[in-house]
Amino acid sequence: MTSAPLLARPRERTDVVIVGAGIVGLAHAVDAVRRGLSVVVVERDDHAVGASVRNFGHGCFTAQDGPALDYALAARDAWVRLAKEAGFWLRECGTVVVARADDERAVLEEFRERRGDQVRLLDRAGVEARVPVGEDAVAGAWLPLDIRVDPREAVHALAAWLAGRGVRFLWGTAALTIEPGLVRTGRGDVTAGAVVLAVGHDVDRHFPDLADEAGVVRCALQMVRVRAPLGRAVDPAVFSGFSLLRYRGFGGCPSLPAVRARLEADHPDLVAAGLNLMLTQRPDGDLTLGDTHLYGRTLDPFSTEALDEAVLDQAARLLGTGPLKVVERWRGVYAAAPEHDFLVEAPAPGVRVVAVTSGVGMTTALGLAPRVLDDLLA
Ligand SMILES: Cc1cc2nc3c(=O)[nH]c(=O)nc-3n(C[C@H](O)[C@H](O)[C@H](O)COP(=O)(O)OP(=O)(O)OC[C@H]3O[C@@H](n4cnc5c(N)ncnc54)[C@H](O)[C@@H]3O)c2cc1C
Repeated sequence: MTSAPLLARPRERTDVVIVGAGIVGLAHAVDAVRRGLSVVVVERDDHAVGASVRNFGHGCFTAQDGPALDYALAARDAWVRLAKEAGFWLRECGTVVVARADDERAVLEEFRERRGDQVRLLDRAGVEARVPVGEDAVAGAWLPLDIRVDPREAVHALAAWLAGRGVRFLWGTAALTIEPGLVRTGRGDVTAGAVVLAVGHDVDRHFPDLADEAGVVRCALQMVRVRAPLGRAVDPAVFSGFSLLRYRGFGGCPSLPAVRARLEADHPDLVAAGLNLMLTQRPDGDLTLGDTHLYGRTLDPFSTEALDEAVLDQAARLLGTGPLKVVERWRGVYAAAPEHDFLVEAPAPGVRVVAVTSGVGMTTALGLAPRVLDDLLA
């Protein structure tokens, strides 16, 4: 059997062609449509199944820092507007950070000094009023700006909403090569004035030198979905002391090294596994729970049950409940780089390679995309 020559396939012509229908690609489509441009999105799968549907759906705005904080705050407005326009579920519920030691409480107090009203300190009763907690909770903080969506719904709803606004989605179509003004796919060529490559952790498949230079690797996270314990709503997203170690916003707090040292001494395996003990509630009440982080250019496909068990045990302690009933397990992968949260490069005129290189794409992509297109279309 021979395959038909590519050039014999139909050609599409558009103002902007975007490769990848995850949140980063869709964010660029949203902004391009807002500018009145015609858009084609090329996606290798029949619907998005990447990082953008496997995450917590957490708009984690307040814990960002630097450019990510600017993009996050811009993205917040876009999420709230799009939820109304595209008709998907969104909760403006904030995040509760549960402090279970005095050093964690001190970090939250320091964070409040820096961020003012974006951080509301809570005593134990204030934490308990918002989320179920175990006996060891001493205090906490509420980050009221944060939101959550159901990523499994929101990403598909956004794509459908964009299609209703004339965006043409080429599903089940892999982009093979990227050139100025031209994307060659397995189903024919797409020509465009501007090209955006938003393929998440597969950025190295197309531009390995760019990925290597930025130190981009894959980061795999183990995730579980559990039945809601205690029959109680958990409206805010919930962070633990482990989360303080993972977000840049807490980075400069003077008490953070003490938290790190204590957690490393008490839970060396969990800190080595990059545990960010956190959870969000789904619309049906189940909890999305995670997560651990494994880094590498190529990752072995095998998940460690002991790690899942440790995360489940920690989550049960955090919530003050008995064993949690697991109803789903999955692995998610995102692009990660050591120094920067974003890779935005111009490998050729009219082409932008865009990847969020830390686990904050849901939080930031809708704020990042307008900046990328301002530059690309200038
Ligand atoms: C488990 C987990 C939890 C997370 N939690 C959060 C969270 O709560 N909040 C937050 O802000 N961030 C979170 N993140 C990070 C966030 O999900 C990612 O940063 C974001 O989804 C990346 O979006 P993306 O569009 O770049 O990638 P993806 O969603 O992976 O999309 C890339 C798309 O490109 C397509 N593609 C790849 N190659 C080609 C090709 N050659 N041709 C055509 N299509 C191609 C893929 O099929 C895929 O659909 C989490 C990530 C994971 C994995």
